[in-house]
Amino acid sequence: MGQHFGLDFGARDSATIGGAISTNAGGMNVVRYGNCRDQVLGLEVVLADGTLWNGLRSLRKDNSGFDIKHLFIGGEGTLGIVTAASLKLHPAETESRSALLAVESLQSASDLADFAMEHAHGRLSAIELLPRMGIDGVCQQILGSVPPIRLDREWYVLVRMAGQDDPSEKLEAVVSSALERDWVSDAIIAQSSSQEAKLWLIRDSFSELHRYLGVSFRFDYSVPLGRIPKLYPELCEAIRKVEPHFLPFAFGHLGDGNLHCSACQPDAHELVHQKSDVEVNVLRKIKDALDQRSLFNPHKTLPA
Ligand SMILES: Cc1cc2nc3c(=O)[nH]c(=O)nc-3n(C[C@H](O)[C@H](O)[C@H](O)COP(=O)(O)OP(=O)(O)OC[C@H]3O[C@@H](n4cnc5c(N)ncnc54)[C@H](O)[C@@H]3O)c2cc1C
Repeated sequence: MGQHFGLDFGARDSATIGGAISTNAGGMNVVRYGNCRDQVLGLEVVLADGTLWNGLRSLRKDNSGFDIKHLFIGGEGTLGIVTAASLKLHPAETESRSALLAVESLQSASDLADFAMEHAHGRLSAIELLPRMGIDGVCQQILGSVPPIRLDREWYVLVRMAGQDDPSEKLEAVVSSALERDWVSDAIIAQSSSQEAKLWLIRDSFSELHRYLGVSFRFDYSVPLGRIPKLYPELCEAIRKVEPHFLPFAFGHLGDGNLHCSACQPDAHELVHQKSDVEVNVLRKIKDALDQRSLFNPHKTLPA
């Protein structure tokens, strides 16, 4: 009682723990609790030869050699099937407040995120970057509602602070500072939990909006904190070079530098495009050692 699981993402209603572990899912609360890897203390896994590995430990620190659970976290089911997990819990967040802010630029959004992380004293639980076209599209096409804020800027930031006591003062102080610094031109702070839920429903509906955006190729980019303002124009340029008439659609987690970006871009999703040959060879050897007959997700991440 009084505890909660730190991970929260759009697929919360359908995802299994095994799926979240195998994709090392992150989501909205990474800024506070880290990604799925940070929530896992131990695992039980069925290996390709049928062996059951019981690594269901709950030690916070285990220095007894290699920590093999990390091979399966983010392994996308290529090395084994996760059948049970021992997970970290955190004190429940009983109070939360959220605000939606219109930012002057991507750089302002990034400055705001840095400032909030530094000044929220552990209360910041989510800080999300939302484009105008996403808020507009979700409100018009999915929710059939009026946007909660004037849509006269390209980018918006949805921020939540939470804890066991009321974080209003901290949130208001961050919003005021952002207005004073001209990072933000307009802001609404949810005045009730139902208003707050409506703001987050907009964010949660972003994935569904893809149904209305035609053929879209979706990818995730992770960059060091603060690099999103540099990444985004480069992504747009890259998309334009391949398909000039395709529209970039990006949103994501300012707190961990993870941007979800969509465009039509016909190509395969293989790890080989993102890792050096040395890393791919090591991963290939691990896969071969643990799954000699390539029974588990043979074409995922590594080519056959
Ligand atoms: C590389 C990657 C990263 C992702 N990161 C995020 C993120 O940061 N935030 C977010 O919201 N969503 C993320 N997703 C989407 C993610 O798939 C869902 O959020 C959710 O966690 C998937 O859960 P699921 O149970 O529906 O798994 P599925 O969609 O059914 O499966 C996802 C993958 O996990 C494998 N898998 C599923 N269950 C097990 C198991 N028990 N043992 C072993 N392998 C298993 C499957 O073979 C498949 O490769 C990511 C997806 C991928 C592929």
